[in-house]
Amino acid sequence: MSESKSGFSIERHGLDLRFRLATLAEREWLAPDFVRVRLRGEELAGFQSLGADDHMRLFFPDGPVGSVEELRASPSREYTPLAWGEDWLDVEFAVHGDEGLAAPWAAGAPLGSQIGVGGPRGSAVITGSPGSWLLAGDETAIPAIRRFSHLIPDGTPARIVIETLSAGREVDIDTPVDVEWLHRGDAPAGSALIAFLAGMPDAAGPDPFVFIAAEQSVVKPGRALLSHWGVDPAVAVVKGYWKRGEAEYHAPH
Ligand SMILES: Cc1cc2nc3c(=O)[nH]c(=O)nc-3n(C[C@H](O)[C@H](O)[C@H](O)COP(=O)(O)OP(=O)(O)OC[C@H]3O[C@@H](n4cnc5c(N)ncnc54)[C@H](O)[C@@H]3O)c2cc1C
Repeated sequence: MSESKSGFSIERHGLDLRFRLATLAEREWLAPDFVRVRLRGEELAGFQSLGADDHMRLFFPDGPVGSVEELRASPSREYTPLAWGEDWLDVEFAVHGDEGLAAPWAAGAPLGSQIGVGGPRGSAVITGSPGSWLLAGDETAIPAIRRFSHLIPDGTPARIVIETLSAGREVDIDTPVDVEWLHRGDAPAGSALIAFLAGMPDAAGPDPFVFIAAEQSVVKPGRALLSHWGVDPAVAVVKGYWKRGEAEYHAPH
């Protein structure tokens, strides 16, 4: 457990690692390059995710699978559980052209396609009340930002900053403060976000919880900003959610 000066902390919880089979049940485009899917299946009963930036591993079998071993042998990618119930789980995917495995699956797999869900195997949970919140990321961080923003009490200072490719790609997000949308255009992913954050004299207010997640190159400057703002890295999250030119990137946890 990490204690900040303000008393809020990030508690780590382990969860039993479970693998579940589900099928693609619904697809809803929220922006031209951003899609929400609903997975369904009886094995989703008991699914749990305690932390807003938890990740699970989604497995993409290329045909019907008969066992957990077969499922686990399929290629996989990391995604954020957005919302779930007894037999359903919603996930949102940034669709980045035709490259990759997960994004094309989310964009075009036939309804009824099988998918595996592994984990989450652990969660980081904010305990106590940060004095302010800074949530910043690109499209891949939108699900985590949605979940974090539900934790912000009304009236608590907050900034929410999201980088997308261009205008017209913003999605509706239920947040207590207006989202500040940035557009990277032809610039490298993450560069507009870091330039914007670097212009902020402080994170968001007193005793902030800071979350920054985007293309991996934001990690170094993001950590430097924590130090510049006087934010304890033990109660902040700065993470690469993908890496330019690298398939199946594994973020260090
Ligand atoms: C903790 C965690 C949580 C995450 N949660 C989500 C989530 O909820 N929703 C979500 O959309 N993503 C999320 N991601 C990011 C997702 O895991 C990666 O984007 C993943 O690489 C996508 O897999 P893919 O099969 O589509 O592409 P890959 O096969 O992994 O990559 C193929 C190529 O596409 C590039 N690429 C990968 N992602 C992007 C991108 N977003 N934009 C442009 N180029 C890209 C790679 O650099 C590579 O060149 C999360 C990552 C982490 C670490």
